[in-house]
Amino acid sequence: MNNDVNATWPKLPVALKKIAIDPTSDDYELMCSNYFVTGRPKLILRATTERDVIASIQYVKKIRESVSHSIPFSFRSGGHGISMASVNDGGIILDISQLNSVTVTDAEQGLVQVQAGAVWGDVAEALRPFNLIISSGDFGDTGVGGLATGGGIGLLVRRLGLTIDHIVSARLVTADGEIRVTDHQKYPDLFWGIRGGNSQLGMVTAFTFKASKLVEEKSDISLPFTVQTIESQTSNLTKFIQQWQSWITHASSKMSSNLMLTAENRNTVHINASNFWAGSINSDAKALFKSALSLSEVNKHQLETKSYAELVKAPHIPHSGQQPVFVKNILLDAMNPNIGDIITSIFKASATM
Ligand SMILES: Cc1cc2nc3c(=O)[nH]c(=O)nc-3n(C[C@H](O)[C@H](O)[C@H](O)COP(=O)(O)OP(=O)(O)OC[C@H]3O[C@@H](n4cnc5c(N)ncnc54)[C@H](O)[C@@H]3O)c2cc1C
Repeated sequence: MNNDVNATWPKLPVALKKIAIDPTSDDYELMCSNYFVTGRPKLILRATTERDVIASIQYVKKIRESVSHSIPFSFRSGGHGISMASVNDGGIILDISQLNSVTVTDAEQGLVQVQAGAVWGDVAEALRPFNLIISSGDFGDTGVGGLATGGGIGLLVRRLGLTIDHIVSARLVTADGEIRVTDHQKYPDLFWGIRGGNSQLGMVTAFTFKASKLVEEKSDISLPFTVQTIESQTSNLTKFIQQWQSWITHASSKMSSNLMLTAENRNTVHINASNFWAGSINSDAKALFKSALSLSEVNKHQLETKSYAELVKAPHIPHSGQQPVFVKNILLDAMNPNIGDIITSIFKASATM
């Protein structure tokens, strides 16, 4: 192995020439970014078939073996990964955004084949005529590949669980350049690993999901969603979060809720709450929406009813690497005053959202 990362790479195989983009290509600038950052890769491979994915992974293997194992290699599906790792400097990006078909194979059973380069807004739109829903994220441009290998906390998370709970099988290309189809029976360890392991085990090219048929009672019409958005503020974040948690814990699982908290100044936290009710408005929903308004000092609020597909419609905004972020995740079973105080102190210490 040659340890100079700048050493000449092995010749690009003919099969990859038609999908290769380098710094001299017209499309290079368009293809360098993800949602958060812009990279300067030496090569971008824009796959249009599964064969392209196999050939790309085999080529990267060859480069790494002959030049350096530290040459960066990124997978990009939707480009919304919070790790920001779907672009790099000096390495290769394998982009599968053109592998994006969505096919309902058995509407009765809710079985749907989705290529990993699709975005969730387009998945929702394709499932709409069948009254089927796969709970995914809150934003339609987010990609299937990253979210369905990462977890997937969606607008129906309290009712349906995570996106990965609905994967029936997956096709992936592993590091040896082989295709493997995995499910609970075939390569069960691999199947376990890809549901949370992101790119650690290979690139998933397609999933089979079991979608949920969510319809209004005594009707075959897909559920409407009623969304309450509230802009408010609080000077006592600990108390607010505890009250919010008690509110959502006692609510029907038809209700899910997201909070986005931003430090307005050292003493005040600005709250953007989005509360999603899956179903037509009834007395339970009305009571919950009303009590949500009493949790903080409300500046503005509104209620809107939409279909799931409208709610997560994909705007297809090109990536421009708009804002690097630093993200930490924690999973809490329950909020207590100690945790509330820690979050409050983080807000006081720095500009945090
Ligand atoms: C505006 C916005 C809103 C979001 N909302 C939500 C939300 O509501 N719920 C939620 O759960 N998450 C949400 N996220 C987080 C996002 O879903 C995850 O970070 C997810 O990984 C993005 O997937 P992607 O395909 O778009 O990302 P990419 O940037 O393309 O990929 C992210 C990482 O996933 C891996 N990966 C990508 N494709 C594949 C593949 N085909 N096979 C194997 N590994 C792969 C790679 O390691 C890559 O680095 C949001 C992110 C943004 C920017």
